[in-house]
Amino acid sequence: MRLALNALTDELRRLKAAGVARVSVSDEAIEALRKSAGSRPAASPAPTAAAPAATPARSPAAQKAAAPGAAPATTVPAPVVTLPEGDKQARWNALRDIVLSDPLCKSKVRPGKKIVLGVGSLDAAIMFVGEAPGAEEEVQGEPFVGPAGQLLTKMIGGMGLARSDVYIGNIMNWRPDLPTAGDGPQTGNRPPTEAEMAHCLPYLKAQVEIVNPRLLVALGASASKALLGYRAFGALGEVRGRWHEYSGRPLMVTYHPSYILRSPTNRNKRLIWEDLLKVMERAHLEISDKQRSYYL
Ligand code: URA
Repeated sequence: MRLALNALTDELRRLKAAGVARVSVSDEAIEALRKSAGSRPAASPAPTAAAPAATPARSPAAQKAAAPGAAPATTVPAPVVTLPEGDKQARWNALRDIVLSDPLCKSKVRPGKKIVLGVGSLDAAIMFVGEAPGAEEEVQGEPFVGPAGQLLTKMIGGMGLARSDVYIGNIMNWRPDLPTAGDGPQTGNRPPTEAEMAHCLPYLKAQVEIVNPRLLVALGASASKALLGYRAFGALGEVRGRWHEYSGRPLMVTYHPSYILRSPTNRNKRLIWEDLLKVMERAHLEISDKQRSYYL
């Protein structure tokens, strides 16, 4: 029953995040909920309920972290990831099993779609971190395989590397949902909420610990907020193109490839490329004159 109630509150939050202010609840449903929750009936049941009707208790830290108007924290606490001893592949496999059996991850993935974990070399020196799976990624179960992924793969090629030389992960392990028309497919994407990112971040952190890259590259605002702190900056321009730190490793913040897809000017391409030149320098990759002058 607890699972059913969690699923219900998750669904109410999802509706609220999607802008739904009120939902209709029949008297029968309210009675059934009361019975299952073991609560006493109120004098007169309301025919409608705000979504969500009640905000669950949260830790003082979570309350402090939440901005006014922010999506409420999930009732499911962020997972504590304990990996076994062993080589990188064994640890990664163990992590994959943990993520694939996470009840919240499972509940967030639509039928026929996949939970997505990172991909690439477990010995990579460079780890790219994106936001969340999109339409293609949730079908294939692999990050960055859609249009933004194809551009990221091209950018990696420009650095003289193959996709298989680096590690590519996302903050989120599921595609943040939007309401669909009936059983139709989800069109469009939304940025993950703070609570959603807080739930998945331990899985990304575990991947950082397994791969142990020399440095990280955050792609776009969501990844940068998750790694630097949700309120660490206002506009991405405040932190982009500079070195920061995450989990004891240098972290470069740059634009998300989808920004270049939306706004494919040479200037924007050069800005992201300059950030990647800094990454190449710090990773001790050779840089040719031709590479230095891309998009000039
Ligand atoms: N955008 C992301 O941030 N990650 C993906 O995997 C795909 C698109």
